[in-house]
Amino acid sequence: NKPVCDCNTCFTGPGCSKFIPHCTANADGGDPLFLEPFWMQHLASSALVVAGWHQMSYTYSGKSFFSEELAKVVRKVHASVRNAVTQNRFIIFGAGSTQVLSAAVFALSPENTSSPAKVVTSVPYYPVDKQQTQYFSSQKFKYEGDAYRWKNRSDCSITNMIEIVTSPNNPDGQLKKAIFHGPNVKTIYDHAYYWPHFTPIPAPSDEDVMVFTLSKLTGHAGTRLGWAVIKDETVFNRMMIHMQMNSMGVSKDAQLRAFKLLNVVLEEGTGIFDFAYQTLKSRWERLVQTVSLSNRFSLQENNPQYCTFYNKVRQLSPAYAWLKCEREEDKDCYAVLEAANIIGRQGNLFGVEDGYVRLSLVRTQDDFDILIERLHKLITEEDGDK
Ligand code: PMP
Repeated sequence: NKPVCDCNTCFTGPGCSKFIPHCTANADGGDPLFLEPFWMQHLASSALVVAGWHQMSYTYSGKSFFSEELAKVVRKVHASVRNAVTQNRFIIFGAGSTQVLSAAVFALSPENTSSPAKVVTSVPYYPVDKQQTQYFSSQKFKYEGDAYRWKNRSDCSITNMIEIVTSPNNPDGQLKKAIFHGPNVKTIYDHAYYWPHFTPIPAPSDEDVMVFTLSKLTGHAGTRLGWAVIKDETVFNRMMIHMQMNSMGVSKDAQLRAFKLLNVVLEEGTGIFDFAYQTLKSRWERLVQTVSLSNRFSLQENNPQYCTFYNKVRQLSPAYAWLKCEREEDKDCYAVLEAANIIGRQGNLFGVEDGYVRLSLVRTQDDFDILIERLHKLITEEDGDK
């Protein structure tokens, strides 16, 4: 049994067994606790004991900050899922993909220049890309907003452009493609969600810089372990320098834990993917069913595509619902949901208007069940008003 530390906002009392009737449905953050039951089923094989004298050095055998053994298992996982090409590629780790993304932006920026690289993302974009780039903004790079704004400018203004492409996208789950191409453009593919849990896998990705994270693969967001698969040795070396300057490498405890967990992923064959896909597919279907009871709200497109992992045509089973309030009077969609006791994330954070709200579908089953209950109530009561 799981020891209870924190109760969900809708439960209280011993063992969190008492339901609080008018509680708020929390569909905010992207904590991937939907994977917790999988790990509870694999208690022994995923457990780790580390003796006090182990792993004390900064480095592995006096050489790198990064575990070669972990890189090997990462390559094996990509090979088994066929979501990314890793042969003849470099792999680097970071404290979550958050740090890896930042390292990539630094590494792809020009070294000595009077004009900083323009970092762009296309709407709706993952807010942290904007926030982090603005925070670290320097002579090397500057956040320049929505990529579409630059699309129609003449080619001569497209110098030193870095486009971050989140694919599948957070918030809407779409398999995004880069908007810019050419010799003056560098592209970072954020593939945090490019796993069969969330999306069909049409083909192995073979981009110059591809970023992944343990957070959305195994659900261990708190381990803070992400990685990049990199084609170019110079870019890899510059990212290595960044990691040295920024944090002298990455926690070896985190690397060891990731190694353990990824080995379980491999041992279980398609186990974790089947569990994650089935869970999110059934959540998506329940959501679609609920939302379809009314035309007040709509969800993102979900066109089926061929998935080479499951050898079949399938839809997205997205991590987030990108909910749109369709009525003119519901311009502030967040407020509409808040009044119905549902907390999502405002559309304007993702660079679009407030007619949209992101709802997380990757939290615990309790969180999801309460979300559906609140949405159902909102939608059916509204029908009663007509
Ligand atoms: N990229 C995307 C698209 C995300 O949604 C997230 C987490 N919400 C991250 C990166 C960062 O994840 P982490 O730092 O935990 O690897």
